[in-house]
Amino acid sequence: MTSDEIRETFLAFFEAHEHKRQRSGSLVPAAFDPSVLLTTAGMHPLKAYFMGLEAPPAPRLTSCQKCFRTPDIDNVGVTARHLTFFEMLGNFSLGDYFKQGAVEFAWDLTLNGFGFKPEDVWVTVFEGDPAMGIGADQEAIDAWLSVGVPRERIIECPASENFWWSGETGPCGPCSELYLDRGLEFGAEDDLPGGENERFLEFWNLVFMQFDQDEQKTLTPLPNQNIDTGMGLNRMAVILQGVETVFDTDQFVPLMDLGRELATVAEPEERSLRILADHTRGMTFLIADGVVPSSEDRGYVLRRLMRRAIQHGRRIGAPHGFLPRYVDVVLDTMGTAYPELHTEKERILKWVRAEEEGFGRTLEQGLGLLEQHLEKGDLDAAAAFQLHDTFGFPIEMTVEVAAEADVTVDEAGFKVLMDEQRLRSAGGAGAKGRVGGAADLVRGLSNKPTTFTGYEHLDQHTTVA
Ligand code: ATP
Ligand code: MG
Ligand code: MG
Ligand code: MG
Repeated sequence: MTSDEIRETFLAFFEAHEHKRQRSGSLVPAAFDPSVLLTTAGMHPLKAYFMGLEAPPAPRLTSCQKCFRTPDIDNVGVTARHLTFFEMLGNFSLGDYFKQGAVEFAWDLTLNGFGFKPEDVWVTVFEGDPAMGIGADQEAIDAWLSVGVPRERIIECPASENFWWSGETGPCGPCSELYLDRGLEFGAEDDLPGGENERFLEFWNLVFMQFDQDEQKTLTPLPNQNIDTGMGLNRMAVILQGVETVFDTDQFVPLMDLGRELATVAEPEERSLRILADHTRGMTFLIADGVVPSSEDRGYVLRRLMRRAIQHGRRIGAPHGFLPRYVDVVLDTMGTAYPELHTEKERILKWVRAEEEGFGRTLEQGLGLLEQHLEKGDLDAAAAFQLHDTFGFPIEMTVEVAAEADVTVDEAGFKVLMDEQRLRSAGGAGAKGRVGGAADLVRGLSNKPTTFTGYEHLDQHTTVA
């Protein structure tokens, strides 16, 4: 099954069961929702319905939502299953069916729609947590037993795995997840679902949205008992196309091929090729939804993604001006499903070219400086600050390159220097000027003042993982 067929199979199944099909919402969340920087799950655009703030167009909805998860950046190219940008398929019940109904639909579609063998599918449920005042989810266990899942393939897990929060505050609830046992070639005899192993691949999460969490972390029951599910389209493609990783699926093969074509080093690292494939998709979709590179919030996520891609492009020896080539392939593979990519093509290319030109110019010098420090085996706060301020290196990139040479960076010291700089620039006319240099050129492209707001603002809360 192609990715397009997986998407259509899912949406058509739920339409046939009276769900109203919704278009994907933007990657930029609605203005009323400050709980996340970017859309990380299918329920985000529907949040007002879950919270009872707005009436839903129908009690049953289904969608394929564009998602972006910043915390998964470091997993890209390392695990088989993580992307930053991915598509999430979902079915939603707003006060209509609850656990039993959600389990019955999930089991039917998994077996009869996607043809999984029942003996390969395992499920997890919430084991309960006395501190939260919630017991084991017996209702979910009973629902799985009722459709024929044997008790030994129903695993109870803690809140870290089986309680889902849509953000720091807002709708949340226990969840139940479906895993496929990919067999011993992917892991060990005693592996179980819910762990970090690659043998059991999590492909679908059924969230039983029944609470609203406030700032004090108090849970209050929502007006309705709701269902919110999320199935990873790209993970389904791994399974249904019989491949090992998301990078071997139909949406990614043309991007991986392009990387090999552009590479001039003898043996380009697989990880770099994967990071390039993922990040170029991510930047294309983010820009199409109106994000522009900057030093703050979601603009910083985009900038970090672009600069990391440019750095890995250099590692594989891609010629200057390579990013637009990736954008073209993303448009070829995704443009039919997401026509906004075509509408926004010129803007996407403009930002991508500008960033590659600006940062590409300072990258070599910055890496040279970084190299000198790494040889000494030490990277202090002042060096990290200089790399950031003069050469435009996101701190995460400095930390990552240093870690490869087993060197740790004084991140706390870096933050102090950044705070000092922020105070200076807030000081107006009397403030000391910045270091200046090539990074100003990069900065100038974004038309925004430089204020580093730090990694803590980049949270994309999902499960407490
Ligand atoms: P994992 O434990 O593998 O990180 P998760 O538990 O964080 O996944 P959920 O928050 O439950 O994921 O999201 C619902 C579904 O979305 C997952 O079951 C999976 O199929 C898909 N998904 C989640 N994160 C990613 C990602 N980074 N890349 C691709 N698909 C993802
Ligand atoms: Mg998980
Ligand atoms: Mg999950
Ligand atoms: Mg995760």
